[in-house]
Amino acid sequence: MSAFETELSRRLSAIREQGLYRELRRIESPQGTRILLDGRELLNFSSNDYLGLANHFRLREATVRASVNFGAGSGASRLICGSLAVHHELEEALAAFKGAQAALTFSSGYAAAMGAIGALVGKDDVVIIDRLAHACLVDAARLCGAKLRVFAHNDMNDLAVILKWADERVRTASAANRTITPQVIVVTESVFSMDGDLAPLREIIELKEKHGAWLMLDEAHATGLYGEKRRGLAEQTGVAEQVEIQMGTLGKALGSAGGYVCGSRALIDCLVNRARSFIFSTAPVPSAAAAAAAAVELVQAEEGRSRCASLWSMVERVRQELIRLGFALPPDHSAILPLLIGDESDAVLTAATLREQGVFVPAVRFPTVARGLARLRLTLTADHTTEDLNRLFRVLAAADIVHRKS
Ligand SMILES: *Cc1c(COP(=O)(O)O)cnc(C)c1O
Repeated sequence: MSAFETELSRRLSAIREQGLYRELRRIESPQGTRILLDGRELLNFSSNDYLGLANHFRLREATVRASVNFGAGSGASRLICGSLAVHHELEEALAAFKGAQAALTFSSGYAAAMGAIGALVGKDDVVIIDRLAHACLVDAARLCGAKLRVFAHNDMNDLAVILKWADERVRTASAANRTITPQVIVVTESVFSMDGDLAPLREIIELKEKHGAWLMLDEAHATGLYGEKRRGLAEQTGVAEQVEIQMGTLGKALGSAGGYVCGSRALIDCLVNRARSFIFSTAPVPSAAAAAAAAVELVQAEEGRSRCASLWSMVERVRQELIRLGFALPPDHSAILPLLIGDESDAVLTAATLREQGVFVPAVRFPTVARGLARLRLTLTADHTTEDLNRLFRVLAAADIVHRKS
């Protein structure tokens, strides 16, 4: 074995010893409530395809049409020659859906976060981020070169203290150097991806307005699901106008792939000029853009309303049953239901037990969540049936899961 291989196997053993080793599971079927894994059909409670659109015939049809009309690839970055009509149509549809002046799409939500934060703030600025914000927001905040401060999860007292500190820092910096105008940006998400709880948006808006800070809100798990028009949690809370930068993914409830940022025309023009993950990356494939555009249309139509309504009624039913089984759930309602286990290896074993019974609920461990807070992350989609839920309840009850009640 070469020294390189020896070193890597040493690292892999260390990961295994901590119960943190990860492997890809090969799925032989489309996304849906049933997936084919190792030749077995499993009832799937792991997907973020909340509205069941990833394999919807309207999206499939849109991908075929776009591939026939525009081909398989986009050929170049949007700024070179890849800015195809399908991308513009998607962005116009997204802006209209979200009630924003403009939107810009990226190859992923991850790329959207990296591009937007890097474009808007740098070394003279301050980024204040929720402790449980998604890895892409954390990475973007670290990489942009700004002073980084983390506030305790959803803790408005902590956020207020840090905003006050940032005010002071910004004031002294601009007094010392009149050519710079340092900016403070608060970054959080509306539905937290591993805990399923919600950010207190009204309070966050109040605080950031008081301090003249900007807010970047990641609606990855809320777009398509919250608010009368299903725009997201900002709509439901009635604060969308006060969020400077809204972002999200096209890969979850919208059933396709890609990321977006929406807001003012000036914001989008800045991103086109400054967002490196947009400028220096080949445009998303035409079929993904077309599928996302079809999803945006579907979400706003009667079918989107009814899919969303059935998802929420299932969420209510599953919450009640999980609480009856002794699980402690967050008080907020979302399609993400974390079943806290604690120990990493216990979580993996429990997930394996459920899998043997034909039910797929993945274990989520460090570094996705903190050490000692491993959990099963159960997600629901609009296509689950009452019978699917009954089977889930039977299997969970029989599994006699070791769970912490905190
Ligand atoms: C999934 C996710 C992303 C990343 O989006 P992708 O399109 O999957 O890259 C960003 N933010 C949050 C909160 C997410 O859950």
